[in-house]
Amino acid sequence: MSARVIDGAAIAADLRARVAAAVADLSGQDVTPGLAVVLVGENPASQVYVRNKARQTVEAGMRSFDHTLSADVSEGALLDLIARLNADPAVDGILVQLPLPPQIDTQKVIEAIDPEKDVDGFHPVNAGRLMTGVPGLAPCTPLGCLMLIRSVRPDIAGLDAVVVGRSNIVGKPMAQLLIAESCTVTVAHSRTRDLPDVCRRADILVAAVGRPDMIRGDWIKPGAVVIDVGINRVPHPAAGEGKTRLVGDVAFAEAKETASAITPVPGGVGPMTIACLLRNTVEAACRRRGRPVPPL
Ligand code: NDP
Repeated sequence: MSARVIDGAAIAADLRARVAAAVADLSGQDVTPGLAVVLVGENPASQVYVRNKARQTVEAGMRSFDHTLSADVSEGALLDLIARLNADPAVDGILVQLPLPPQIDTQKVIEAIDPEKDVDGFHPVNAGRLMTGVPGLAPCTPLGCLMLIRSVRPDIAGLDAVVVGRSNIVGKPMAQLLIAESCTVTVAHSRTRDLPDVCRRADILVAAVGRPDMIRGDWIKPGAVVIDVGINRVPHPAAGEGKTRLVGDVAFAEAKETASAITPVPGGVGPMTIACLLRNTVEAACRRRGRPVPPL
């Protein structure tokens, strides 16, 4: 069997189109959602993400407010900016691009963002809402993963799901979202014993580790849905000296032979993350104004 390759780029484009339609509808009611993105320093990867976020925000019909601070900015100055964005009625969503430089306490910054504007879903209030099943803003990457899973298996209640990775931004919220979908969820991590065996139990396998090709084809249960969150840059000598390419945490060619559906890297989870950020901005804009949240 060769798995269906889940086209994250196409599914993300569909979501962006639905977001744009919802924004057009809100604009007709004199509401234009606004997203503020704060970038500290000149990390090239972060600069690319932030540029893409700003472009896609504007393409969806929303307002984009970009704030770039120098790498040596003080924690106090960043917290002041967040306080101003919290108070600004034109700003519905606030995203602080991570990682932050070492002089800044990342957790303090996350907790300074108004939970109602926390479109990344990292604030403990939103993490708690996710855990307790109260409506709130869920982190974008796991939300995108769930949409990709649903695109191939609309009904996942009762399935065995394994999430490899327990970070606050991917693994843990992914597990919570799958629990909310009535999956039976196992969370694996670096201390898990016999990881291949744990993975072999998964009808749904989500890999969020950051280790190239770690999950091999013979770890995959026949017919499983495999979602590869990992983004790893590895040497690509065939393309020339010093060239690199992106691979996931799953050995794609091997896993494709056993899974029923699998996401590629790139072109799988990656495009969903920004699309879900736009979706969350619309949700935040509606909630803050007491309006119904469109089903996105
Ligand atoms: P973290 O480094 O925060 O977490 C990695 C997790 O993997 C940890 O829980 C760690 O376990 C676990 N782990 C590490 N080594 C092993 C191992 N040998 N066996 C089992 N588990 C292991 O990473 P993130 O969650 O932030 O990101 C994970 C990957 O996803 C990265 O490649 C990142 O680039 C990518 N990513 C992609 C996004 C996208 O938009 N597509 C967005 C966010 C991340 P322990 O807790 O025990 O240390």
